[in-house]
Amino acid sequence: MAFELPKLKYAYDALEPHIDARTMEIHHTKHHQGYTNNLNSAIEGTDLEGKTIENILINLDMENKAVRNNGGGFYNHSLFWSVMNPENRGRLSGDLKDAIEAEYKSFDAFKEEFSKTAATRFGSGWAWLCVHKGGKVAICSTPNQDNPLMPGTGCGGSPILGLDVWEHAYYLNYQNRRADYINAFFNVINWNEVERCYAESK
Ligand code: MN
Repeated sequence: MAFELPKLKYAYDALEPHIDARTMEIHHTKHHQGYTNNLNSAIEGTDLEGKTIENILINLDMENKAVRNNGGGFYNHSLFWSVMNPENRGRLSGDLKDAIEAEYKSFDAFKEEFSKTAATRFGSGWAWLCVHKGGKVAICSTPNQDNPLMPGTGCGGSPILGLDVWEHAYYLNYQNRRADYINAFFNVINWNEVERCYAESK
């Protein structure tokens, strides 16, 4: 079974004004579709065919650039769409709230640290919140389409929240103002989903 572009659970304009419809549509139908197609081409006829994306990334040969870039791109964007929701955002609560406050003292301090990590990623990449064994959470960043599941990224753990800081994710609406885009992202985070991932991964 080839990988398929996941459908969004909301309309392209549903995240406005924080993330504009045109960016969402191009990001999903061009960028994410491209990673999906290229991943399928890269694994076709190899022993990676038929494996789950998590399995492929955890055991990845980092020299395999086609699978690294496109497998990362496929996985990262799938997570990214799912951790945003315009209607049912919920709010940070329960065990995840406790874990974040244990590590960062307060939600505001966590937001500041996550935003700084995203803002200072030079060039293209991602900011992550990951859960480690025992439920401890940590913020980290990876370049390009790398992600914390891949070996040797310096992150580790399982990503439960990811923010795309490639220019293609914000340039139409925000131009060079990455900090404004990062701030806007916090208005559309689907905490119910992040918490679900936390409970599942810890
Ligand atoms: Mn992207």
